[in-house]
Amino acid sequence: MHKSSMDDSHNKDSQNSSEDISPQINDREIYKKTVKGRSSNWRSRWNGNKKKSDHISKKEGNEIVEENKESEENKNISDDLFFVDSHAHLSDSIFRKDRDDVIKRANNVGVSQIIGIGSDYESCVRTIKIARSNSNVYAAVGIHPHDVKKLNHGILKKIKKLIDDPKVVAVGEIGLDYYRNNSPVKAQKFWFREQIKMAIKSKMPLIIHCRDAFDDVYKILSEENASKVGGVIHCFTGNWSIAKKFLDLDFYLGAAGPVTFSKSNELREVFKKVPLERILLETDCPYLTPHPNRGKRNEPFYMIETAKVLAELHGIKLKELGKITTTNNSRLFRIHNSFKKGVFTYEHKNNLYLNITNKCSNSCFFCGLIGDGLFKGSNLILDQEPSISDVMEEIVDPSFYEEIVFSGFGEPTLRLDTMIGITKLLKQKGAKKIRLVTNGLGNVTNGKDILPELSDYFDAISISLQAGNSESYEKICKTKDIKDPFFEVKNFIIKARTFFQDIEVTAVNLSGITDNSDCMKVADDLEISFRSQEYVHTN
Ligand code: SF4
Repeated sequence: MHKSSMDDSHNKDSQNSSEDISPQINDREIYKKTVKGRSSNWRSRWNGNKKKSDHISKKEGNEIVEENKESEENKNISDDLFFVDSHAHLSDSIFRKDRDDVIKRANNVGVSQIIGIGSDYESCVRTIKIARSNSNVYAAVGIHPHDVKKLNHGILKKIKKLIDDPKVVAVGEIGLDYYRNNSPVKAQKFWFREQIKMAIKSKMPLIIHCRDAFDDVYKILSEENASKVGGVIHCFTGNWSIAKKFLDLDFYLGAAGPVTFSKSNELREVFKKVPLERILLETDCPYLTPHPNRGKRNEPFYMIETAKVLAELHGIKLKELGKITTTNNSRLFRIHNSFKKGVFTYEHKNNLYLNITNKCSNSCFFCGLIGDGLFKGSNLILDQEPSISDVMEEIVDPSFYEEIVFSGFGEPTLRLDTMIGITKLLKQKGAKKIRLVTNGLGNVTNGKDILPELSDYFDAISISLQAGNSESYEKICKTKDIKDPFFEVKNFIIKARTFFQDIEVTAVNLSGITDNSDCMKVADDLEISFRSQEYVHTN
């Protein structure tokens, strides 16, 4: 289980708001001082280059007190899970009597971090106090559109001060709500813009509330250049075309209880299409309790039900969903989580991936090596290249996987002997199918035709072309020390046809920069299947 690097603050939680929220120095503050806002995204890098329970409720007066017994099922699934509830109204008075237990219950099922959400000044102050008392709780501060009718510049100034607290990781929830219209539309729009500006100035990501106001929220986020800090459209319930627009703005989409509701088929279809790298899980508790606990008070403990639905939609295990969505939270909210470094075997769906080197003759500007090294929740930056025995020790039963794929951050043919050595042992131990994902420059870098040897041990090959001509290839891939690499890759593909029946040409689709139709044409001309890989900006 990942541990946060946050220190544990010792202030007692209180229901009373107070302005005595003096910043405390800890790791997060130091981190805030060492990062320059959001990491530059791939577009700017390109431009720069070019230039879940048994839950019994009983009423006590007007308050609902929840008694909770963890189900055996959830105790078991929690063992190696790590999830983040990215939207919890922990300061709500409904949690007054049992908040510590609420947090503990969540932690016991693997909901190990919680972002507490403020919606008015008082709740922001209370949320920070809760965060200070719990090392695994963080805070977001901002004024909800329902409450902006009472907002003024004096209060906004006080909110701005709260941002300096080391446990504050976002501005929110802010946005527009045309369903209830509890505040005049004009005021909603004005204060939405003001709070976005405040967030950008403070280099804080945004947590957005959007109800019956998708067009205006999108327009304002675009006009205010909110992509600079990014954010999440919390409890997203729109259709795919709206989802696409926010994804194109580099925003994350929050999946909450509604995705589990029986009538939410359309919403589930939307979340099936949203790349895992852009999904945050949340409860929005105490509201929107996921099925099968609708009607009960919601709390982070129940988020596991939403996670189960998302994992099923994407055909992955809960553990993988936890790793990926925790990575998403860490990136967006800049919360340090220690991801195990130097991962050289990782699972995705029914396949096992091997990451045996970080060396490559190319330096593609979009390569994961340039970012934080995290892929599908695994840190693929190697301190040391693994030996054949290092890799084999991690693989208990190769026959368990549909495919074993040599693919990581680096070009595996640069370690030809090691790769072939691993492949031989995998075959002996019953591997069903082994695939090589390569940049197609292995003949040049090894100084010999490696295809006969590859075809002895590999069942399938995927060759990354990435461009339709030499000029584009050089601009995108920045190959070192190889003359006309595009020609060499194309030549490798032509030769590989005679050695492999299961062969494909691939290219990452970088909309607005590369036109995959060029690569597709090259593959068509060579009568080889082509696969376009959607690139998801993650850093
Ligand atoms: S070819 Fe692949 S591993 Fe090499 S730099 Fe490009 S994206 Fe990275």
